[in-house]
Amino acid sequence: MANMSDEEFIEMYGRPPVRVKKRRYKVYWNRVIIALVILILIIAGLVQLVKTIVRSFSDDDGGKGKKALPAGADQSVSQTDPQDSEAAPVKEVTQLQFKVCIDAGHGGEDGGTATADGSRLEKDDNLRIALAVKDYLESKGVTVVMTRNDDTFLGLQERCDIANAAQADLFVSLHRNSYDGEMSGVEIWVHNSEPQYDTLLAQNILTRLENVGIADNRGVQSGYIGMPDANYHVNSETDMPSCLVELGFITTDSDNQLFDSNFTAYTQAIGDGIIETAFQLKVIDEDGKRIMDHMLLSDGKNNGSTQTDSSGVDQQGAAEEGVSGGDTAAAQG
Ligand SMILES: [Zn+2]
Repeated sequence: MANMSDEEFIEMYGRPPVRVKKRRYKVYWNRVIIALVILILIIAGLVQLVKTIVRSFSDDDGGKGKKALPAGADQSVSQTDPQDSEAAPVKEVTQLQFKVCIDAGHGGEDGGTATADGSRLEKDDNLRIALAVKDYLESKGVTVVMTRNDDTFLGLQERCDIANAAQADLFVSLHRNSYDGEMSGVEIWVHNSEPQYDTLLAQNILTRLENVGIADNRGVQSGYIGMPDANYHVNSETDMPSCLVELGFITTDSDNQLFDSNFTAYTQAIGDGIIETAFQLKVIDEDGKRIMDHMLLSDGKNNGSTQTDSSGVDQQGAAEEGVSGGDTAAAQG
């Protein structure tokens, strides 16, 4: 039929062919304009949505940074919108409502221990991992108080004062060990009265570090090296459960290699040991919500033990002057 001329058509059908208007080529401008307007509205809506999401993420970060600092930070305020956790398929607690004080040992003029050639200082390793632990814990919504954030000198009592004033629930001091000879591995020190909570904290951290890989598990130890009646100042003068972690010997190359290659895993092991302790001691419930209506207190080092406060402090004070001044000689970081 397409090849038929009008004349042929009339001859065959007795009427002129009805030419269908080529409607498909007609442009309905009003419809096009409406469609374009709708498209523009959709795009504008999407852009607005993306902007809102980006803004809410950066607000979360800013909020955390500010909230970590003040001592009495309001932890009841949720920093994450409920819709965020709905969007995330992985079930993860977005905020753990407890506070920990992380203490990077030594600093400033007090370098702590060092490698034989002096090229690597304990204070730097301590600060590096302390800051990483802080970041890790904050990513889990834990409030972290730092005794120092940079290479500055800080007295031992100042460190305790910061933790006590902030009413931190847990205190973890990070150090590297030293020894004049071949020695390797990780040990964690608690108060010599071996308080249950402090020991649990130390054990939780040590178990996880061992799972990552350490040269030797030198165990949870109490008191002060070579002086069982004495204590590390930060373990005796903090109100909350505390421990002092010796993350391998800076004087042993293989321990330094482990420290460097396992850095991220060590960071998480320490962080997870801290978090686990907060769960176990019922500072927070299984959703991370705070149960305890006061700061967590150590169950022994400050009130129960046989030593009177003054004699304990005197003895400890004497022992730890050496520690704070640089503890290389005593095989101690
Ligand atoms: Zn040290």
